Amino acid sequence: SEPVLRIENLKTCFMTSKGEVPAVDGVDLALYPGEVVGLVGESGCGKSITSLSVLRLVPSPPGKIVEGAIYLKGRDLVPLKEKEMCRIRGKTISMIFQEPMTSLNPLFTIGQQLMETLRLHERISRKEAMRKAVSLLADVGISRPDKVISQYPHELSGGMRQRVMIAMAISCNPEVLIADEPTTALDVTIQAQILDLLRARNKKHGTAVLMITHDLGVVAEMCDRVAVMYAGKVVEQGTVRDIFSRPQHPYTQGLIRSVPRLADSRDRLYSIPGQVPVMSSQMKGCRFASRCSYVMGICTEQLPELTERSTGHYSRCWLEELPREDAI
Ligand code: SF4
Ligand code: MG
Repeated sequence: SEPVLRIENLKTCFMTSKGEVPAVDGVDLALYPGEVVGLVGESGCGKSITSLSVLRLVPSPPGKIVEGAIYLKGRDLVPLKEKEMCRIRGKTISMIFQEPMTSLNPLFTIGQQLMETLRLHERISRKEAMRKAVSLLADVGISRPDKVISQYPHELSGGMRQRVMIAMAISCNPEVLIADEPTTALDVTIQAQILDLLRARNKKHGTAVLMITHDLGVVAEMCDRVAVMYAGKVVEQGTVRDIFSRPQHPYTQGLIRSVPRLADSRDRLYSIPGQVPVMSSQMKGCRFASRCSYVMGICTEQLPELTERSTGHYSRCWLEELPREDAI
């Protein structure tokens, strides 16, 4: 089948006092109907800017999509006018943000906001919209939807607000859902419930999900495929099984090593030494070279291409094969 979302050579830059800085630097990514794809990496790697670019929500200025295409069901979103994007956002493609307080309006009740979203995209009466809003809240596991409908965002817990956000995001049955760190601000139990909710949505309605996260536990739990981002580029891509059992990029290997052993432990046994490089348009060579324990001469000179290592498994590294690590 055709991908429902296909990002091609996306480059998004920010104008700074030091010139044009590429936050997303030539990203290719495909999302097929019914799939959950994880986009992982440390903060600042460009994953959120990738998702904002897809929705054409990059603050501009200083941000700008300077190259590439974003095909949603075959139609490139990059050249579209804001008015056209408004018809697509919330309808064909929706986004769930980390902090629902920033996307919920504090001045309106949950019901008013849900109804507004519904009526923006569908010709339905107020009464119908209200009925649908109540049923959406029930769908996302809110036990007293009739009560919540007349409440304001600040009256709800963080977990409840995230459920409301999801209800709004799925209200018009989007074909693509982008979730940017949707559970990061929540405690572990609520986190699991929210992930279950997204997975159920994906299974039941075939909604394709792009899951932006720094948490490999979330990826293992939720995703079919995963793309690992580093310094604005995808450095590895493959099925979740490939990535976890045979990582081919040293950065991915480092990320996997740094996953806490105990599910409820926040202690990291390992963290990748060093920092994400300061991005600039003059960067050359492999972006990970300054932190890589396998670095070779060529690495600082030439940027490796993303190449296929086994069917559907890609890595951007000069090493032909990454040495396997002994189990820790
Ligand atoms: Fe390390 Fe070189 Fe591979 Fe970059 S290309 S990840 S520096 S081995
Ligand atoms: Mg982010």
